Amino acid sequence: MIRIYNTLTKKKEDFVPLEEGKVRMYVCGPTVYNFIHIGNARPMIVFDTVRRYMEHKGYEVNFVSNFTDVDDKIIKKANEEGVSAEQISKRYIEECKKDMEGMNIRPATTHPLATQEIDGMIDMISDLIGKGYAYAVNGTVYFRTRKFEEYGKLSHKNLDDLQAGNRSLLVSGEQEKEDPLDFVLWKPKKEGEPFWVSPWGEGRPGWHIECSVMSKKYLGEQIDIHGGGEDLVFPHHENEIAQSEACSGSVFSRYWMHNAFLNIDNKKMSKSLGNFFTVREISEKYDLQILRFFMLNAHYRSPLNFSGELMEASKNALERIQTAVDNLKFAADHAETQELTAEEQAVLKEAGRFEAQFDEAMDDDFNTADAIAAVFDLVKYANTHAKEGGSKALALALCKKLQDLCGILGIITEKQGELLDGEIEGLIEERQAARKAKDFARADEIRNLLLKKGIVLEDTREGVKWKRA
Ligand code: AMP
Ligand code: ZN
Repeated sequence: MIRIYNTLTKKKEDFVPLEEGKVRMYVCGPTVYNFIHIGNARPMIVFDTVRRYMEHKGYEVNFVSNFTDVDDKIIKKANEEGVSAEQISKRYIEECKKDMEGMNIRPATTHPLATQEIDGMIDMISDLIGKGYAYAVNGTVYFRTRKFEEYGKLSHKNLDDLQAGNRSLLVSGEQEKEDPLDFVLWKPKKEGEPFWVSPWGEGRPGWHIECSVMSKKYLGEQIDIHGGGEDLVFPHHENEIAQSEACSGSVFSRYWMHNAFLNIDNKKMSKSLGNFFTVREISEKYDLQILRFFMLNAHYRSPLNFSGELMEASKNALERIQTAVDNLKFAADHAETQELTAEEQAVLKEAGRFEAQFDEAMDDDFNTADAIAAVFDLVKYANTHAKEGGSKALALALCKKLQDLCGILGIITEKQGELLDGEIEGLIEERQAARKAKDFARADEIRNLLLKKGIVLEDTREGVKWKRA
């Protein structure tokens, strides 16, 4: 039985899905105005691992994660560059997908874009107005927070404390609110901003309504798990609950999971402090598998400090696993006997305990740190038992066990010489751009790099094709 720490109840609870054998999971995705930073990568890696483990347990997982592609920060960047907001968001969604591939994060079942779901948002806002939970003033629509009696249940905040804190925070133009606690569902357009036509005038949706709508459209009114970083608990997720539950009258998400923050040199990593790394920067120095491994070495609810030393330690640790896999493959290739002996059968049976240890750790609120410890116990065991003179079957079976456990964590056990498809395509694109810019030296360099990795390019009339030699 999987147990999940639920932010809603502040307790670990048995995971019981709404529908047997199925998991409906929604995770708030990034706002796409720049390359993602390694903090954004943490929820991506964590929830990709949750999904993989659920699938390992036999669940069919419908996993939805959005891209927020309309936002002040996107508009600001577009204005700085003199391009459209859409160009900015499209560019960084593509870049984000490349980073995800490098970290071996599988694409979600659906990655909806906020800008493609505006009709649904208008419908939900109209519904909320109809039910008395929202009101329009001068082109802005607000949610009537106090009308939703359970407001505060996720962040465990008391409305009166919030009210006291809010009084000093009143921003100009907000006097039109009935209550300082009310939040925006729809805002009127400003000059030079993207907008959509709505019953309340031209404008755009507030951020919170996006997730309520996309979650409902792709997963239904009730979902099993909703996730994101802990900074989203309040107000984003609290507001999502208010919107969704006010609309449907039923519980929105049964389990709320939040990852803790990634810090740098023990300080909060943030764009405003300037102390952050993008995933792309890290990829210049390290294989992104190492970043993934580094993240999974900590429990997702523990704050995690990023440092060069810890990355080096992760690199060495991951290499130990990869070397063990290589050694087992070598042993299988050079074994003199094929079949398991009786003694080896016992050895293999005994190795099953590491799988049990792994599952036990993961069942306990996805304790990846302990799960990795189980992987290392298996490495040690395989190193001692797959000795010279052993059978091919034993080496192969131990190798498979190791690869399977790593696979559940999304950790690739092959030493990275091999390029992933997305990386190859990225390099080909770069080569095309270099040729266009008449930088033939760089173009040749890329061709040779690909050749070294066993990728052969062929220039055809339809463009560049590639194959693995
Ligand atoms: P944003 O693009 O800021 O909306 O963030 C996208 C996701 O990344 C959210 O789930 C955030 O909670 C998460 N996130 C942002 N910064 C960090 C960080 N330093 N550590 C962990 N998660 C983060
Ligand atoms: Zn969200």
